[in-house]
Amino acid sequence: MYIQAITLFPEMFAALTEYGVTGRARQHGLWRFDALNPREFADNPLGYIDDRPFGGGPGMIMMAPPLQAAIDNAKKACPDGRLIYMSPQGTPLTHTRVSQLAQESGLIVLCGRYEGIDERILMGNDIEEISIGDFVVSGGELPAMMLIDAVLRLLPDVLGDDRSAQQDSFVDGLLDCPHYTRPIQFNQMVVPEVLRSGHHALIAQWRLAQSLKRTLTRRPDLLKGHAFTPQESRLLQEIQQEQQDIPL
Ligand code: SAM
Repeated sequence: MYIQAITLFPEMFAALTEYGVTGRARQHGLWRFDALNPREFADNPLGYIDDRPFGGGPGMIMMAPPLQAAIDNAKKACPDGRLIYMSPQGTPLTHTRVSQLAQESGLIVLCGRYEGIDERILMGNDIEEISIGDFVVSGGELPAMMLIDAVLRLLPDVLGDDRSAQQDSFVDGLLDCPHYTRPIQFNQMVVPEVLRSGHHALIAQWRLAQSLKRTLTRRPDLLKGHAFTPQESRLLQEIQQEQQDIPL
């Protein structure tokens, strides 16, 4: 996958390109990255890319011409790349959207700064607005890195074991189950016996029941659209009998 970020702070993306699973995956050639700095496309010698908002008010707005030039260049390098603008006004990001984006051959991610970007960039381009939540951060770089990281970990061979991503929260519509490692006893708390039993079917059933229980108590909204397997329905009934006061 070829990922391009349009950003005033290309160095920030070292967090993705140099570290952890995403850094290793890039070294192994599983994805490529380029950053385009709108300042390089500024139409003035001092490299200004922002200006005051028409109508007045605080803050600065990123100007359309350098942003459009950066987008056009990114498109030239990757004509099929999906264009995304990180924005608190966008559609909230979900696992479903992340897995769809993981099928793309390329992503071009535009990172805003200041009060945001000139609206005409959004009007004049086929651009998807994506939010990472109902709060505002100072720039689009961290949201872009979250999106890109989430997409990359779904690509084949990026994680040490591809099954890891399959077991994560949201993948099958439920939250992940609790996990334990050595030591068996820690501060008077003991690892559940079933996990030490070596009985794979019982372990799988325990994990599924724990996932259902967690989802029911922490995110019951997820269960509303969930397509239950017969085993899940049975386990959920048992859990609800135990916790009769938590309605779906
Ligand atoms: N004035 C804008 C508004 O209220 O919609 C917020 C501008 S914010 C300070 C600067 C940039 O950070 C935005 O252009 C966007 O790229 C990014 N940003 C901030 N919060 C975000 C969020 N929740 N999701 C995605 N991007 C965000």
